[in-house]
Amino acid sequence: MHVTSNHKIVGLSPTTPINLNKDMTTMLMVDEEKQYIWDKTFIQIARLMAEHSTCTRKKVGAVLVKDNRIVSTGYNGTPRGLKHCYEIFTPDKISKPNYYEEHGKFSQKYEVHAEQNCIIFAGKVFTSCEGCTLYTTLSTCRDCAKLVVASGISRVVYDELYDRDQEGINLLELMGIQVDHFVDKGDNA
Ligand SMILES: [Zn+2]
Ligand SMILES: [Zn+2]
Repeated sequence: MHVTSNHKIVGLSPTTPINLNKDMTTMLMVDEEKQYIWDKTFIQIARLMAEHSTCTRKKVGAVLVKDNRIVSTGYNGTPRGLKHCYEIFTPDKISKPNYYEEHGKFSQKYEVHAEQNCIIFAGKVFTSCEGCTLYTTLSTCRDCAKLVVASGISRVVYDELYDRDQEGINLLELMGIQVDHFVDKGDNA
């Protein structure tokens, strides 16, 4: 569609035909590209947070963001005062065949997930999660998904898909929360 505008547009003569469809596509691409760069920044920070995890099985990091500013961070581990996962599961125990099973029981009882820690901290400092984006290195589990829904978070971006359980992701989508799988385009993107 070609239209002729009478409005003054910098860089264009008043008679320059403007392809509105093309301009809007370009604008949308610019927005998508900007969003990708922000997503990449926060996913990278979530990956750095994951390195602080005290879990021997899976290290997960999370970042809570509002208007492209970080309001909270978290990683998975035991609450203060309890022994860390790495203190219980020493290398000799990790090498045993029942490690996954034993860790599973321990984790369910004592470990707090990265997303939970992130949301709990936001609550402690009186920050509302309403309209926030949660970045996480691992796709959200069912328990965390319930917390995400209850807290008012409106978008979840995850890095790695948890292959054993996607119930959390399904619940988020069912509840109308935007869920995006971050796909890194590489350094030159
Ligand atoms: Zn652990
Ligand atoms: Zn979880």
